[in-house]
Amino acid sequence: MKQCILLTAFLLALYTGNFSYAQTLKAAASVRIITPNPLLPVSGGVGLPNAVTSKKGDLFVRALVLEKGTNRIAIVSIDNLGWSSILGNKSRALIKGITPANILIGCTHTHSAPDAYAFPDEKGKTGADLKYLDWCTQQIADAVNEAVKKLAPATLKIAVGEAKGKIAYNYYANELYDPRCGVIQAIAAEGNNKGKPIATLVNYAIHPEVIGSEQAILSPDLCGPLYERIESAVGGVALFMNSAQGGMVTADNRRENGKEANDWQECIRIGNLLADEALRLVGAAPEQKDPVLYCASRMIEFPVESPMMQYIIENSPLKHPHAKPGIVTAQLNLLNIGTAEIVTVPGEALPNIGYYVKRHMKTSHPFLFGLTNDAYGYILSKVDFNSFKRYDYISQTCLGELTGEIYMDAALKLIAESPAAESVK
Ligand SMILES: [Zn+2]
Repeated sequence: MKQCILLTAFLLALYTGNFSYAQTLKAAASVRIITPNPLLPVSGGVGLPNAVTSKKGDLFVRALVLEKGTNRIAIVSIDNLGWSSILGNKSRALIKGITPANILIGCTHTHSAPDAYAFPDEKGKTGADLKYLDWCTQQIADAVNEAVKKLAPATLKIAVGEAKGKIAYNYYANELYDPRCGVIQAIAAEGNNKGKPIATLVNYAIHPEVIGSEQAILSPDLCGPLYERIESAVGGVALFMNSAQGGMVTADNRRENGKEANDWQECIRIGNLLADEALRLVGAAPEQKDPVLYCASRMIEFPVESPMMQYIIENSPLKHPHAKPGIVTAQLNLLNIGTAEIVTVPGEALPNIGYYVKRHMKTSHPFLFGLTNDAYGYILSKVDFNSFKRYDYISQTCLGELTGEIYMDAALKLIAESPAAESVK
């Protein structure tokens, strides 16, 4: 009997040993340029896109793939205003070796990229280039598939803290924004690049609209300089995932006497400052050597009550599928990556919704990936909906009065049903 126990212990140790070897965290990142050639008109919102004559910087797809044991996830960032789940699902179908529910596709919300929603005008006409969008779906899948092939052992550094300096503010009410910046850095644990970052992901709430859609310029806006600054400082691939930037958290390009700086120089200033702040925050973080990787997903249904949103969904040539009339669905994800807990938002949540959801996460490293897995307009709570005159526009471009409540209920339920992230030491 004693021998049997010893044998069991030996087998268990062997099993556990193998198990922990197989459970090493792996990471890889890949990039594709998606700048259209020739250039295409750019979209800053509903309506036909505006013609462009030049570009500042390139548009990118940036993918980070993480794996632990049999669990594999992809986080994709696209330089665009919003990325419909119709396009996202085309990429998911082309991605090998990752279950579609574990693929998170978000956009940076630059206001100077081609129209990816194929917004119809009053006559049903659209200025979107569907061939370009199809090509982008392939680039997204290629970036993820390439990253899967490059997966290599990694450790993590994770930090959440206040990004200091003149980066963002709330255009509607100056101080009503979340200054927290979340950073996840995957660091090579083996090979020639051991100790160097594979990827640095920055999560922050801001409208990248310094240049905007009316200057005839195609641009990643402040995200381009952010990538460049991080990559030239520490190497690897930089990713930007937006957060709860609705109504109306924007770049702080204010100047004296009510003037604003709206040029590439200002994109560089803000992009560099946010990059420096992200690197400062993560630079002080301890290394997480054997971090947990967890991914859950749910589908949420939203009724479409807004006439403007109904019109877009009915008339866009992207052909939004809806199983039930007047209902759209979105994928909601929750990830635990080491000490970080991440919840996605399928649109532009107002900052108070962001604070509320973060406050309920089981971590002191909360991340919110806004405009991820779809971008169904603004997401307001029922008490904000159709309230201040200031909120007229964002209420019109919100699916309905209960959009925020449906989102918050689903997010809190998913948080409650999921394990906590690892505790911060
Ligand atoms: Zn917006």
